[in-house]
Amino acid sequence: MKESKLKNRNSIWFQENSAKVNINYAKNVCDVAILPIGAIEQHGPHCPCGSDTFNAIGIAEKVAEKSGAMLLPCPMYGSHPYMHWGMEGTIPLRYETHIALLEDIIRGAANAGYNKFIIISAHGQVAAMIVAVNKLGLEGYFTLGSTWYDFLRDDKTVLKDYMWHADEAETSLALYLYPEFVDMDLAVAGGGTPLIDSKWKIAPGQGTSPGSMYHFEGTFALPEKDDLAVGVIGDPTRATAEKGEKLVTATVNHYCELIKEIRGKYPCGINPLGFRNAMGYTGTPSIEYDKFHNEKGQLLK
Ligand SMILES: [Zn+2]
Repeated sequence: MKESKLKNRNSIWFQENSAKVNINYAKNVCDVAILPIGAIEQHGPHCPCGSDTFNAIGIAEKVAEKSGAMLLPCPMYGSHPYMHWGMEGTIPLRYETHIALLEDIIRGAANAGYNKFIIISAHGQVAAMIVAVNKLGLEGYFTLGSTWYDFLRDDKTVLKDYMWHADEAETSLALYLYPEFVDMDLAVAGGGTPLIDSKWKIAPGQGTSPGSMYHFEGTFALPEKDDLAVGVIGDPTRATAEKGEKLVTATVNHYCELIKEIRGKYPCGINPLGFRNAMGYTGTPSIEYDKFHNEKGQLLK
């Protein structure tokens, strides 16, 4: 095998490289891995059921190209907040299934030498993602869980409204990333019935404010299968490919800056947490740190 192929990847996608290429890439070039996660979910009459998965892949591909991070295969299915369940066209994983899926993917990728993980979610599956991130943290896996619109917090600079569902934001991404699957002739505005005033809730993509809960912290909405007329929250008729490009570009730039910091601070082979108890966390207060860290878990200079 040619030496040059060992040090560089043939593809940004893990599944398109040989194991040897992936291992050498983590060892010599970059051991940051991105896991894009989406969902299979109805997205109104105008967008495909794979919208969230396609959005996650579209953003993650650009981040991987620009930042040098390896891209792990994207599981098509995701988990869903309670109000999504039962919608025709939506195929939710149970929370336990999804948490276990995320844990297993990251443990497996770590076995090939990847030490820093960034989950890029394009769907409201924070409930499972946060549990997985915390469980992985107990085992010594450095994992950042993020949802693109909450990470971007556009807060109405590009958009007229916050990020909802099959709406201005998601449809703009669709028009930019996969217009062939979108039928704007069928796009109609929709909305749900809030259970308490929206001032108590930080909407997806909204900046934070005092006296408000994150949008996944409560049962704020009625079951959508009964409450929503067309499976849309927000107004997709405002969507344009230009808005999609602006949102994607801004999001990609933030992720690349984050990855640059991680790569600069922790070279290849360094696990920022400094320990690994794969699948074996016992709750013991004594942790054995690796040779790059002191007994307090701090990175040695
Ligand atoms: Zn969506």
